Amino acid sequence: MNHQPGLPPTFQFSQSSLQDYDTCPRRFQLRYLEQMRWPAIESEPVEEAERLARLGSDFHRLVQQHLVGLSAETLADTVAHGEPDLQRWWHSYLAHRPAELDDADVYSELVLSAPLHGFRVQARFDALLRRPDGAFLIIDWKTAHHKPPREALERRLQTRVYPWVLAAAGAVLNHGQPINPAAISMSYWYPEFPGEPEEFAYSQKLFERDERSLGELIERVKDAAARSDFPLVEDDRPCRYCVYRSFCAREVAAGPVIEPGEAAESSLDVLALDWDQIAEIQF
Ligand code: SF4
Repeated sequence: MNHQPGLPPTFQFSQSSLQDYDTCPRRFQLRYLEQMRWPAIESEPVEEAERLARLGSDFHRLVQQHLVGLSAETLADTVAHGEPDLQRWWHSYLAHRPAELDDADVYSELVLSAPLHGFRVQARFDALLRRPDGAFLIIDWKTAHHKPPREALERRLQTRVYPWVLAAAGAVLNHGQPINPAAISMSYWYPEFPGEPEEFAYSQKLFERDERSLGELIERVKDAAARSDFPLVEDDRPCRYCVYRSFCAREVAAGPVIEPGEAAESSLDVLALDWDQIAEIQF
C-alpha cells in the first residue's frame, strides 16, 4: 500500500479518476493511489458483466479498425464470429454512424493531455473529427444497453473533461493555433440507440467554467492526498456497483448489470460498466 502522503508527482488525472473522486473519495484512493484491483465482483451476475465488458471492447476495436481504413468486408469475418449483440451493434454502426465521419479528418483513440494546477489531465478520444469548416466533434461510443437521461450525461465529468482538454491542448491539431471552444462539440453515440445521439455544444463560457471547476476539484484531491483523508461516501448507493464494497464493509447487495428506468443518480453508476472506464482500470 502507498503510505506516502500527497499525490505522486507524475500522477495524471482523467475523467474516470475525477469522476471516482467526485462519487467517492475512498474509491479514488483505493483505485488510483493504492492501485487495488477488482477485490470483489462489481455487479451481478458476474458472467453477464464480463460479457458486456468484452462486447464493449470488441465493438471499440472494430470501429477503430474501420476508422483507420480496414473495410467492412475485411472485418465481416470477425463480426460473423461475434455474439448477436456485437453483430447488431456493428450493423447499427454501419447503417447509422454519424454522417460527420464521412467528410472529416478522423483521429481514432487519440490521447491529449493538458496541465492544470500542477498536474496533467488526460483524455482518450474514441473518435475526434476535424470537419471541413474547422469545427471539432468528439464522439464517444457507448455500448451500455441502458441510455441514461441527457441530464445525467451532462453532469458526467467526461462531458467537461474532454472538451476542456481539447480546447486546452488541441493546438497541435489546429495548425498550431488554440481551438476556439465554440468550435467544439461532443456526442455520445449508442449503437443500441443509433437515432438518439446526445450532443453537447461547448463555448468559451463553459471552457472557463470547467477550467475553474476542474481546477477546484484537483485542489480538493491534492488536499485530501496531503492529509490522507479519503472518506467513504455517505450515501451507500454507489457502493452497489463498486468493487470495493466488501473491503469497505458496505453490506449492500451487488447491483444488477442493467437497471432499466433507473433514476439519474443510479444511472451514473451503471455507466461504470462502460468499456472506456473498465479499460482504464484493467490496463
Ligand atoms: S464501496 Fe462505497 S465507500 Fe467503498 S470505495 Fe466503493 S463507493 Fe466508496
